[in-house]
Amino acid sequence: MKTVQYTLPELPYAKDALEPAISERTIDYHYGKHEQAYIDNLNNLIKDTEYEDMSLEEIIEKAEGPLFNNASQAWNHIFYFFTFSPTGSREPSGELRKAIELQFGSFEAFKKDFVEAGVKIFGSGWVWLACDEDGKLLIIQKSNAGNPITDGLTPLLVFDVWEHAYYLDYQNRRAEALNKLWDIVDWDVVSSRFEVD
Ligand code: MN
Repeated sequence: MKTVQYTLPELPYAKDALEPAISERTIDYHYGKHEQAYIDNLNNLIKDTEYEDMSLEEIIEKAEGPLFNNASQAWNHIFYFFTFSPTGSREPSGELRKAIELQFGSFEAFKKDFVEAGVKIFGSGWVWLACDEDGKLLIIQKSNAGNPITDGLTPLLVFDVWEHAYYLDYQNRRAEALNKLWDIVDWDVVSSRFEVD
């Protein structure tokens, strides 16, 4: 019997490296405790089931209910935290820059639309930048654990709008919390996810 055990990947930066946008305390709780719990739940739910042999992306595409929720949350948080860097490019370049300008008018207009979409999600969720197979960019709002993989889209960037993502640092101020994330997004990472044929 194959026993897959997902583990919490170590972040590629120090826990205080994203301050003041995201505090060390929020990293400790959000990544160290919330994300660890999703991974623990995922491991418990796939044990001795057909999902043990699937990739995490396949589980997200096929599962429903608690398994979908925990698998998708496990994936989403890794994607989210690995988008940030204390150094990195703060603006997109190359093909992604062109696609953003074509789709949204300008990088500034995109940032405004993206944060606005995140602010308007009622309750917990995620705001995504994704692309379809033709490279067309889309801002996607998802509730709870939602992920654009289930729509056949490729995720490029995500902001977490669950209160647990920002409450320690910003309390109820979701828009401020989301706008501060632009200071730590590493656009080299985001660009690497956007492949134009
Ligand atoms: Mn979260």
